[in-house]
Amino acid sequence: MSNSTERTRLAQSDPDVYLALKGEEARQRAGLELIPSENYAFPEVLTLLGSAFTNKYSEGYPGRRYYGGQEYTDRIETLARDRAKALFRAEHANVQPLSGSPMNQAVYLGLLEPGDTILAMDLSHGGHLTHGAPVSHMGRLFNFVRYKTNPANGAIDFDSLAKVARETKPKLVVCGYSSYPRDYDYADFKRVADEVGALTMADVSHIGGLIAANVMRNPLDAGFDVMTTTTHKSLRGPRGGLILCKERFAKKIDASVFPGLQGGPHMNQVAAAAATFRLAAMPAFRIYAEAVLSNAKALAAALTARQVKLVTGGTDNHLMVIDTMASFGIDGAKAQEALDRVGLTTNKQVIPDDPLPPMRPSGLRLGTPAATARGMGLAEMDEIAAIIAEALAVEGDAVAESILANRTRALTSRFPVPGL
Ligand SMILES: *Cc1c(COP(=O)(O)O)cnc(C)c1O
Repeated sequence: MSNSTERTRLAQSDPDVYLALKGEEARQRAGLELIPSENYAFPEVLTLLGSAFTNKYSEGYPGRRYYGGQEYTDRIETLARDRAKALFRAEHANVQPLSGSPMNQAVYLGLLEPGDTILAMDLSHGGHLTHGAPVSHMGRLFNFVRYKTNPANGAIDFDSLAKVARETKPKLVVCGYSSYPRDYDYADFKRVADEVGALTMADVSHIGGLIAANVMRNPLDAGFDVMTTTTHKSLRGPRGGLILCKERFAKKIDASVFPGLQGGPHMNQVAAAAATFRLAAMPAFRIYAEAVLSNAKALAAALTARQVKLVTGGTDNHLMVIDTMASFGIDGAKAQEALDRVGLTTNKQVIPDDPLPPMRPSGLRLGTPAATARGMGLAEMDEIAAIIAEALAVEGDAVAESILANRTRALTSRFPVPGL
């Protein structure tokens, strides 16, 4: 909502909502966003999300809709699909999933039968809720079995993965994570899946933007059957999901998204995704993605230099997990609250085989996509590491924390939020 007359109208017609909006904008400007799944959408995305496309019902697919008036929605969805295919070197794309969770549900429900076995990473080792957590409906519908990381080095343990696969004969092997800070060779998963005749799915929701920019490996290049990604994390697009697959699964995937799981697609989101895929193919986005990675490496090194212990000892991607119990003797919830008080937004995080419960886990997760989108670089990463290490060391000392909060404000005031 950039138009100032519209804003004035909202301020008059609904001051409650208007003040909440103003508050959130001020919070985003003054604070520093370090949650690795969050980002600042491209300004074009904000414009298209508030556009006339939000008014239109478009059940079906381009050329095969249930309602009339689809001249421009067909054009926009075709653009989005073609651009997604080119960007990710995919045979087929479905751009309609309303978000990451329905995207993964559509894949499971479209390619498998209820009760089938799916092999996915344990949640505390980096997997996502949609990878069959017991509290998720997919966890009730399918038989999820687990692989883990190796306690010695924190890396995925392919020997134990292969062993579990041989014992349980999954129909689908899932990789792709929310809190795993390492890269890996997708061919290793493909080999295990081929041996037991399973399909392969990579959920690259976090690193979709880094794969689009060709700064991280693309699972489709290794012959994966399906790749899913959210469009709002490292890609900087609208909140939404994207399914890419081989042509032979195209019909099943499309029918699973609609009419299997969803009704009308959000065409404002599809339009914003189309614009995002074009921006992500530009040289400037590659420079951004390279900076996300170099900033993450610098932040991890600067934390380690201050005696902060990171799970797996570092990072190959955009995120890292601090073992706050081992480093400072405080749990991740306390650490998150302490960093909130100094203006740094992070999230508490379970660590592999965490002895503590999810609401008071042993760790804290942070990442660089949003800070990098503000234009921050290596010098700023060192200052952020210093603020984090000091804030966690003095946790609860109000005077020390207020001095650190000033340091965060000095940093954020120099880097405007894109689109605000
Ligand atoms: C964020 C995420 C999702 C879910 O996305 P939502 O849009 O929050 O539903 C799925 N898988 C992984 C690996 C994620 O990180």
